[in-house]
Amino acid sequence: MTHMQIGAGLHVVIGGHFPKCNTLVIIDDDVVVIDPGCGVEDLRAFLMAQHLELSDIDTVILSHIHPDHITHAVRLNRLSRCRIAANEITAPLFNDKEKMKDFLGLHRANPVRPLWEKLVNSKMFGALEEGRVDEELQNGDKLTTGSYTLQMLYTPGHLPDHMCIEIREPNLVFGADMDLDLEFGPFYGHPNSSIPEFKDSISRLQHNNYSGLISGHLQKPLIEDYKTAFDAYQRHIGMREDLVLAEIMEGAGTVAEITLKAIIYPSLTDPVFLQFETWMIEHHVASLLQRGLIEEKKKRYVAV
Ligand SMILES: [Zn+2]
Repeated sequence: MTHMQIGAGLHVVIGGHFPKCNTLVIIDDDVVVIDPGCGVEDLRAFLMAQHLELSDIDTVILSHIHPDHITHAVRLNRLSRCRIAANEITAPLFNDKEKMKDFLGLHRANPVRPLWEKLVNSKMFGALEEGRVDEELQNGDKLTTGSYTLQMLYTPGHLPDHMCIEIREPNLVFGADMDLDLEFGPFYGHPNSSIPEFKDSISRLQHNNYSGLISGHLQKPLIEDYKTAFDAYQRHIGMREDLVLAEIMEGAGTVAEITLKAIIYPSLTDPVFLQFETWMIEHHVASLLQRGLIEEKKKRYVAV
């Protein structure tokens, strides 16, 4: 299955797991595409089946700056002259890809940077092309497509610029990388990601009574019982933290030693994923320190 209809004119073109993502397509008075990271041929084939072309897209909305979500934005803009809309934190990062790399922790001095760039250029080609956001959005801003109203909802944690997009009339929410995927997520693998903010954002979505959440990565993207699914998602964060604590109790005393235990991504061969794992372990160590469960003695972490 390459696409799923969710409502009248409301479709998801399935991209699935990283390095692609699910793309929400709204065919209304305007043709609106949210997170163009699915296969561009799948998007084109889907639009053709609706008697449309890529050049008919009016608006592209970006949920956050991650390359797997912005992949085809610049090319779609070039092809269709569509406007690109993103929030006020994402916009300057999209407009200056050097700022984007710094934001993601991939500054010039980081030895992993060229390997990450190679990964992006081979699997998410287009994401590092220079382009410009036409419309900056803020938390709570509304955008109408004709019969649907979209409302921006800031949900930091995954990254500081992460936002979900509420689809008001059918009362759905596009969750982007609050994706309920327990295989790859929850992901907080950058220096400026935050576990406490991620948990706050989960609580906010659980508090709101949507009739369903559209995942940015699950093959079956519509989750009606999303509140229960978020409980398991949150437990997954706690389970990782328990494993980090267990390794420290077993004698792993530095982030490098804990990272070698491959708790989150069980691959020790890919330097890019090792970097993500390191940053995620750093967030768990900070959380354990803050909870008073570990302390630092002679530059080594020990259980209290
Ligand atoms: Zn992301």
